[in-house]
Amino acid sequence: MVPILMYHNVGERERHLNVSPQALARQCRLLSAMGFHAITLRELAEYLQAHHLPQRAAVFTFDDALLGVYEHALPILRNCGWSATVFAVSGRLGQEADWAPRHRHRVMSREQIAELHAQGWEVGAHTLTHPYLTRLSPEDARREITQCREDLQQLIGAEVLSFCYPYGDLDEQVVQMVQQAGYRVACTVRKGLVRPHDNPLALPRVPIAYSDGATGLLYRLWRAWKRTPR
Ligand SMILES: [Zn+2]
Repeated sequence: MVPILMYHNVGERERHLNVSPQALARQCRLLSAMGFHAITLRELAEYLQAHHLPQRAAVFTFDDALLGVYEHALPILRNCGWSATVFAVSGRLGQEADWAPRHRHRVMSREQIAELHAQGWEVGAHTLTHPYLTRLSPEDARREITQCREDLQQLIGAEVLSFCYPYGDLDEQVVQMVQQAGYRVACTVRKGLVRPHDNPLALPRVPIAYSDGATGLLYRLWRAWKRTPR
């Protein structure tokens, strides 16, 4: 089974949704000491297609493509020789994350997204404006899902295969739209580890909280392992 770790921002300024750079570095060192290596979500998708998962692999995902991830997570993961997957809201690049106005997170610029891609990170899609997809008309939901993919593909000059449902909000119709838009793999906020026969378009994750250090990560992994049916 493979854990997909769910992070948002990395930084000190605000606690909400932030993991500190020091905590992230400790978590990486711990995983590395345990013999883990990181793969991207699109790499995991290939394993899932074969219904065979790698041993001691983990996927780092960073929702919303927030600026602190570029500033802190990129160098920290690079130190381990690892890459991650970031989920970008294509209509908000270079702006404030206006879906959570209280926290005033900055979103990476177009140039920073392109730079992440150039450094071997995977750029995944997280819609145009970060809505609750099941509350939209089918036309609007489809546009949020497909236009984001087209925007990001044009920006990085490569195929975008991974998607993340804003707020983990999905139903059968939304999953079908995500598949029809050409995505191969998609993340929810359901807690658990990925199993070889899981539906690639509705994968569980392991949420990492701002208060988690290395021990916190271990605890989250253990909890996710306990709740994953075998
Ligand atoms: Zn989000």
